[in-house]
Amino acid sequence: MVSSLESLVGTTRNLVTEIPGPKSRALHERRKAVVSAGLTQGFPVYIERAEGAILVDVDGNRLLDLGSGIAVTTIGHAVPELIDAVSQQVAAFTHTCFMVTPYESYVAVCEELANLTPGSHAKTSALFNSGSEAVENAVKIARLATGRQAIVVFDHAYHGRTNLTLALTAKNMPYKDRFGPFAPEIYRVPMSYPYHDGLSGAEAAARAIKIIETQVGAKNVAALLIEPIQGEGGFIVPADGFLPALSQWTTENGAVFIADEIQSGFCRTGDWFAVDHEGVIPDIVATAKGLAGGMPLAAVTGRVELMNQVHEGGLGGTYGGNPVAAVAALATIKTLRDRNLAARARELEGIMLTSLRSLQKDVAIIGDVRGRGAMIAFELVQPGTKDANATAAKSIVNFCNQNGVVAIVCGTYGNVIRLLPPLVITDEQLHDGLSVIAAAVRAAG
Ligand SMILES: *Cc1c(COP(=O)(O)O)cnc(C)c1O
Repeated sequence: MVSSLESLVGTTRNLVTEIPGPKSRALHERRKAVVSAGLTQGFPVYIERAEGAILVDVDGNRLLDLGSGIAVTTIGHAVPELIDAVSQQVAAFTHTCFMVTPYESYVAVCEELANLTPGSHAKTSALFNSGSEAVENAVKIARLATGRQAIVVFDHAYHGRTNLTLALTAKNMPYKDRFGPFAPEIYRVPMSYPYHDGLSGAEAAARAIKIIETQVGAKNVAALLIEPIQGEGGFIVPADGFLPALSQWTTENGAVFIADEIQSGFCRTGDWFAVDHEGVIPDIVATAKGLAGGMPLAAVTGRVELMNQVHEGGLGGTYGGNPVAAVAALATIKTLRDRNLAARARELEGIMLTSLRSLQKDVAIIGDVRGRGAMIAFELVQPGTKDANATAAKSIVNFCNQNGVVAIVCGTYGNVIRLLPPLVITDEQLHDGLSVIAAAVRAAG
């Protein structure tokens, strides 16, 4: 079996060519002729194999992965349980379409989701292929169940790139620019952003609620949709009390509270879900990224009385809950549970926050260090101000890449660097990555 092989990869960062190496450069030339120029060109090293927190490129360079493919490979690369489950499922059958002839793994994933998502109430789920698709379906369900249309979203939000989710996403460039018209009945209100607004959670919630009540009307709101910790928008952690106050407002006003846990879910923040930290119980939870260890799978999980109002045939899709992705999710959830990776995320938080906060004291360009669990970021500013410093962010990521560390930029102003290591990263690997980041920050400062 694949799972019994010795490590083929090695556990340390190691560069054997210039970055990118000659084989990666040749592949990049091939790409230019046939791959759409509309796709972001990130770090142009082409990957051949991966294990744990290490990626190996086609030139034999070993890179340290502090991005997890954007919070997807939370359990690490090449996890034996996942390889076995997927291999066996591929040999058994790869597709029937759950709506045509069903299979057990889909049901088992929905059982896990009902148990793991917050709240002990009865829940049902529907499975999809991408985070965007999950968010779209959460909105459809909330509208149908409430008979209302307005959807409230927040500044800095990211909910996807399909047409409806682009309307929900905040940032124009590069996501929305000239792709409109966008769907109607979407209303945006201010987020709690403690570093910039200085408001308590209660104050920020009151500000948002006042706008909702005056500009939308409470009785028109089908759902309030929020990332409990914003991802693409800059790893913005709202002030304590913000999410509970909003959740309470939705309950009092007959609106649905939808948590977009697509980036923050599945132990990433040190709990199964980011809302768990404040005991918030959403009516509907959208999940994807960390759910299936790299296989495409997404889910909408919600209160049975909302979910089951939808008529038969109202939800679905050809590939949603594909059997290979479903068994990958079961193996991923089992791995998160068996290895207690939520606790590991909290340990990683300690290591990253300590290191970045001590670095912050030495340099003038780190304005804020924040995050929870293994979802940590630092915001780069012009010295002596809180003004965005996207140039520093670019040069830090470039320095990291040149030294074989994968780190990703985010933030509405492109000035936040996010760290999303796989939860199986070792202390040695993480310290190594943080030392490269420290050197990069000093060079940029
Ligand atoms: C990535 C992401 C999405 C979109 O997921 P896709 O699978 O890329 O469609 C939606 N919401 C959040 C919070 C995300 O991080």
